Amino acid sequence: GWRSRAAFKLIDMDDRFSLIKPGAKIVDLGAAPGGWSQVAVKRHAACVVGIDLLPIDPVSGANFIEGDFTDPSMDTQLLALLGGKADIVLSDMAPNTTGHAATDHLRIMGLAEAALDFATSVLAEGGSFVAKVFQGGSERTMLQRLKQHFASVRHVKPPSSRKESSELYVVAQGFRPAPITH
Ligand code: SAM
Repeated sequence: GWRSRAAFKLIDMDDRFSLIKPGAKIVDLGAAPGGWSQVAVKRHAACVVGIDLLPIDPVSGANFIEGDFTDPSMDTQLLALLGGKADIVLSDMAPNTTGHAATDHLRIMGLAEAALDFATSVLAEGGSFVAKVFQGGSERTMLQRLKQHFASVRHVKPPSSRKESSELYVVAQGFRPAPITH
């Protein structure tokens, strides 16, 4: 079975957008307890590397790094494990919530933007990026950056995501390393 209910959100998005191609190299940011990595392995990714602040029980076919993905040595460690650039960067990261909606919103957007920085440094041309964001507020600058770097950018609410939650996912496909400036 899946280790997390979150697994169903990636399943929903992959069914809809065919993100995980057989043989893909995948990075899973905020991977604990490992549900998304399980889905990636099951859907025939060639190589899955998950990163989390928390330890994760082994998943056959995946590698895990325990640490903060913003650690400056992380790109190098990751590219060594993947043996080259990534085809997909997934981020289901969430900060610890404070209960103060505006603060929580800013924090999750900060994480999503840092995940985008990370993705632009490790993705291969044509790659995909999926990240958890929250509805409302300061998404505009991030959206602009996404549109410069990806051929298609969508916001998705997977059916398995709770209706009451303002959680959404950005699904960006067709990475271009050199940004398009409008
Ligand atoms: N997708 C996962 C699954 O299916 O099992 C669930 C991910 S959980 C919602 C979010 C994770 O993000 C937490 O385990 C948390 O430790 C991690 N996280 C938050 N900030 C992080 C950071 N700076 N670096 C690495 N992991 C982080």
